[in-house]
Amino acid sequence: MHDDTKLSKLGTDAQENFGIMNPPIYRASTIHFPTIDLFNSRYERRFDEIVYGSYGTPTTKALEAAIADLENASRTIVVGSGTAAITLSIMTFIKPGDHVVVSDGVYKSTRTLCETLLARLNVKTSYFRPDDIENFSAKLRPETKLVLLESPSSFTFEIQDIPALTKVCKKRNILTIIDNTWASPLFFKPLDYGVDISTQAATKYLSGHSDVMMGSISVKIDALHQKIRDNAIQFGNNVSPADCYLALRGIRTMSIRLRQHQETALKLVDWLINQPEVDKVLYPAWPKDPGYNIWKRDFTGASGLFGVILRPTTKENVAKLIEGMTHFRIGASWGGYESLLIPSYPVRDFADPPWQERGPLLRLHAGLENSADLIDDLKDGFARIS
Ligand SMILES: *Cc1c(COP(=O)(O)O)cnc(C)c1O
Repeated sequence: MHDDTKLSKLGTDAQENFGIMNPPIYRASTIHFPTIDLFNSRYERRFDEIVYGSYGTPTTKALEAAIADLENASRTIVVGSGTAAITLSIMTFIKPGDHVVVSDGVYKSTRTLCETLLARLNVKTSYFRPDDIENFSAKLRPETKLVLLESPSSFTFEIQDIPALTKVCKKRNILTIIDNTWASPLFFKPLDYGVDISTQAATKYLSGHSDVMMGSISVKIDALHQKIRDNAIQFGNNVSPADCYLALRGIRTMSIRLRQHQETALKLVDWLINQPEVDKVLYPAWPKDPGYNIWKRDFTGASGLFGVILRPTTKENVAKLIEGMTHFRIGASWGGYESLLIPSYPVRDFADPPWQERGPLLRLHAGLENSADLIDDLKDGFARIS
């Protein structure tokens, strides 16, 4: 069955539910049991049973089963945000004295985690050039416990050779975690390429309507699931069943939304690359992008998020360009229905060559508006600064 067909079935059990298609919002803290034996035995099987609100209600489980299926995982855990998914995955497996190796293009809050909480626990971090496997291998140490990948980087869009990277890690018994938010499980399935833990900011495309905060953690190996799940509860990482309902509803239209995001992004890229104000476009699905070949080999599509490097210009001009937009909005996050345009300032590890582009970097999210309207908006924007 293709993913788009699956999307209309996953997590539903209408016959269990008066014929109603969407699993209802089951809210619960306490679950009652008729006997002590049943209470105890259900707790022993807590990963499979409904035992207490923090282990999830049938609504949570419906969403988790749906995401697991899309990720080709055996299990998925949903948590309160994409940041929580990454933090929890890392915190579950590290101990003082460990070393972690992190893509230098990684999402900003992951870098913050490494530099604050992990540093405080005496866990050292090394960053590697996102698209350079030799540089990556050089960063590994005997005490390297885990590697954090993100492909493409969500601000600078370098694509990683995930199968090559995970092969190196497997040989050395190093755990791999990926932030797979850009592609979503529809366009890239990291667990099939040797990654141990696939995380998503479900805040973005899975929910898709700019109104839910959520993260997901998906694994094939049951022992990993149990450790992360028990830690999720230890850290109080419960997700409201009402939010799970919204995310599950978002998933139904994910394939058609993503197809449209991709189509519009490609149209914008094609137009942007021919503008005199534009130096480069960073989008792995654009055939001249340095990551194009690997993207084409491993991914089945591209999302609506990409970067644009302008030719050197003033801060004032960047503000004039962005603040005058009619359709593109200024805002964090992405993956909703609306187009976004923000300046971004990549942080790079000081030991490696810094970000070397001279012009300002912008990040665009192509929303679901008509692409001609979006191009007109950009055209007017460039006219304001030329
Ligand atoms: C948004 C985002 C996150 C964090 O997700 P939140 O739900 O906002 O915490 C992590 N990684 C990437 C690539 C993101 O874009």
